[in-house]
Amino acid sequence: VEDAVAEDIARFEASFRNITQRYRLINRIGEGTFSTVYKAEDLLYDHYQNEWDLDADKENVDNISSSTLKQTSGRIQKPRYVAIKKIYVTSSPLRILNELELLHDLRNSLNVCPLITAFRHHDQVIAVLPYFQHQDFREYYRDFTVDETRVYMHSLFTALSSVHEAGIIHRDIKPTNFLYSPSKQRGVLVDFGLAEREDRQRKIQTSVYATTVNAAIQAGQPVPKPSYPNNDQRSSRRANRAGTRGFRAPEVLLKCTAQNSLIDVWSCGIILLTFISKRFPFFHSADDIDAFIELCCIFGKKRMRDTASLHGQVLQTNVPNLTENGYSWEKILLWCTGRNKKGADGQGGLTEEEQEAVAFMSCCLELDPARRVTADEALDLPFLAGLGG
Ligand code: ADP
Ligand code: MG
Repeated sequence: VEDAVAEDIARFEASFRNITQRYRLINRIGEGTFSTVYKAEDLLYDHYQNEWDLDADKENVDNISSSTLKQTSGRIQKPRYVAIKKIYVTSSPLRILNELELLHDLRNSLNVCPLITAFRHHDQVIAVLPYFQHQDFREYYRDFTVDETRVYMHSLFTALSSVHEAGIIHRDIKPTNFLYSPSKQRGVLVDFGLAEREDRQRKIQTSVYATTVNAAIQAGQPVPKPSYPNNDQRSSRRANRAGTRGFRAPEVLLKCTAQNSLIDVWSCGIILLTFISKRFPFFHSADDIDAFIELCCIFGKKRMRDTASLHGQVLQTNVPNLTENGYSWEKILLWCTGRNKKGADGQGGLTEEEQEAVAFMSCCLELDPARRVTADEALDLPFLAGLGG
């Protein structure tokens, strides 16, 4: 353990009352915008009182087979590891409560990392989760075959489907929040710091255009064509924009006020795009406007204009090189993987299984959320259907 990390751990141990009596901190494993995560050993853990987590324990008792585990009488001496998430004190109490409550609601959901317990000392809150052995996304995304990607996506969509089933939107689906173990072929979804309950009643803010259309109809005048509102008198539109750049769905970028769980499906589509294009991050815009232009590059101005108008917005751009119709996924993927130059024999398209992945991805990256596939439906599409059970 590095000096700086050791110092950080020592400071944390000194500041949080009695924490060392219960946990032995081993290392710092994550440092995000909202928290620091440590790997620790639970010193008071009794294996026989916690059978619910036997699966996680089997990994921790490396050399003991599960049969020995059952035969052993008395306490097993092997450690039980946990992840301690120290939520920054700058987070609002409501935000912290929200994360803990949602995790509690999801404690029995498939492929969601369950909350074991949580503690507070003064303004510091820590959440304790079972430690899940996983590999850094950057170490494997380039080498994954389509079949390995399929297994990953099945695990991810299983998690997502159970989260949505519980009426919860994750809002920050991305590789660092899905801890995946290629050897176990399993992953768990973490980080419900931005998650929220789905609200199907939310009001949609009317656009200037809709107001103009209504006025014209009432006055018996012809309906005007949509145009950019130069003298917009309304206060600027507010909507939840939580998430990570490059993974935000178009309706989030367009500040749609009635977002639903389908924003998570879009983000999963972006992860799949990363695997099959072998580019990470695939999108890297500085802000939402740039992100929208990046989508225009691919989908073309026409479809993005239609998407904008779905949410009462008007697209007007003078960015050169944006085409009207964009490019097909096939063309983009062949570019990304250096297969755009056709061989003399004329071959060089996507393989059959890549085409299946693209068909699946297109359903996730559907610009109109009303036409996007749900997590549940995604599990039944040909790309994933064979993996159930
Ligand atoms: P943040 O809100 O700061 O992003 P996360 O909950 O995403 O916090 O955790 C940050 C990182 O800590 C994760 O990307 C992962 O590397 C590590 N981590 C979180 N939970 C666990 C866990 N249960 N097991 C192993 N590592 C974890
Ligand atoms: Mg995170």
